[in-house]
Amino acid sequence: MNNLEIKKQILEKIKEYSKIIICRHIRPDGDCMGSTIGLREILRASFPDKKVYSIGNQKADYLKFLPAEDESIPESEYIEALVIVVDTANSDRIDNPLYSRGKEIIKIDHHIRVEDFGAINYVDEEIPATACIITEFYNDFKDELVMNEKAALALYVGITTDTGRFRYRGVTSNVLRLAAILLDYNLDLERIYSNLYLKDVDSLKLQGEVYKKFKSTPHGVLYIHITSKMQRRYNLTPEEAAAMVNSLDSVKGSLIWIIFVDQKDKTIRARIRSRFVSIDTVGNKYRGGGHANAAGATVYNKKEIKALVLMADEILKDYKEKETDWL
Ligand code: AMP
Repeated sequence: MNNLEIKKQILEKIKEYSKIIICRHIRPDGDCMGSTIGLREILRASFPDKKVYSIGNQKADYLKFLPAEDESIPESEYIEALVIVVDTANSDRIDNPLYSRGKEIIKIDHHIRVEDFGAINYVDEEIPATACIITEFYNDFKDELVMNEKAALALYVGITTDTGRFRYRGVTSNVLRLAAILLDYNLDLERIYSNLYLKDVDSLKLQGEVYKKFKSTPHGVLYIHITSKMQRRYNLTPEEAAAMVNSLDSVKGSLIWIIFVDQKDKTIRARIRSRFVSIDTVGNKYRGGGHANAAGATVYNKKEIKALVLMADEILKDYKEKETDWL
């Protein structure tokens, strides 16, 4: 079945149900929040008689400027509902354990296909943000669906955050056209980017320490372990510390960079990023996953940090042996 046919099926399902609950992944980022809230606002505006919720447990402080998600609702409310899970490759990362109580489940995602947990699964691995898929969905059926300012804001934030502000290779003319549709809804770009870029002083100080203390492997993988002690020193949560991931993104020849962040439950979160070279295999090997150039993983101790870094170094070594045209 082609993509348009699947989207038509999704629209038909949406029309069938009077209650729709939209879910997303744990550790919310701009794209999962943007696509859940964007879809919720489109559906609310298009079908005022339906009850449409966007429900997730964990919060992301830096995205508080988006319209808020809904409070949780009782389990009994799920029984007759259509559940749409966006931006989540595997069911164990859905940030709402009640999602499986829904009468039917639809998955809409752009990650590398891992698990088809929906009755309908729309996965576009080529598109750089789930918010693009939702915008495209609106555009395909714009005679029947309604976009508004709230939806456009959420979706624009989803697209701009997952494309590194329109810098990554996945940004095609189609992606820019989708973003342009959203810009027609009175978005204040200066306010959006202020919300996304401004830091407080403690974060900036931790960033200084990251610049001072990061290490490099023989082939140029940059990495740093942001320990609980460092987080305490600057009074930052693991989430806030995790935001340092792109501090190491601009070093010539260092095509892979990784930050390890101590979590409250004693695990260590790895955030792995790259340009040109694919690193999703590293995420997959260490209890994680993700995309070719952005993956996440979990490790348990320093020995595993070392092993993960070594694996990344091997990948970079192989890449540099085969390819010459990198920066
Ligand atoms: P992060 O560094 O946590 O932002 O993750 C980078 C990308 O990998 C995001 O698109 C995540 O959704 C994805 N990702 C992170 N951890 C996992 C995991 N355990 N399984 C699948 N995908 C993941």
